[in-house]
Amino acid sequence: MMFPIRCFSCGSPIGDKWDEYKSMIDSGTEPSKALDKLGITRYCCRRMFISHVDVMEDLVKFHSLYGTGV
Ligand SMILES: [Zn+2]
Repeated sequence: MMFPIRCFSCGSPIGDKWDEYKSMIDSGTEPSKALDKLGITRYCCRRMFISHVDVMEDLVKFHSLYGTGV
C-alpha cells in the first residue's frame, strides 16, 4: 500500500513527510524523535506513520505478470 496523502482521521496532509521520515528511520532515529522533528504532533497522524507497512517494493516484483496475462 502506498502511504496516504492525508491522515484518515483529521485530514491533515502528511504524504509529503513520508520520505523524510523513512530516511530518518533508516539512519537510526527513533520514530518518536523523527515525528517530533517533522512536526507531527497529533496522535492520529503519528499512528499513520508508525502503523504503515510499505509493501510497494513487494508488489513491483509482480508487475511483469500483469502485462503478459499470466
Ligand atoms: Zn491526523
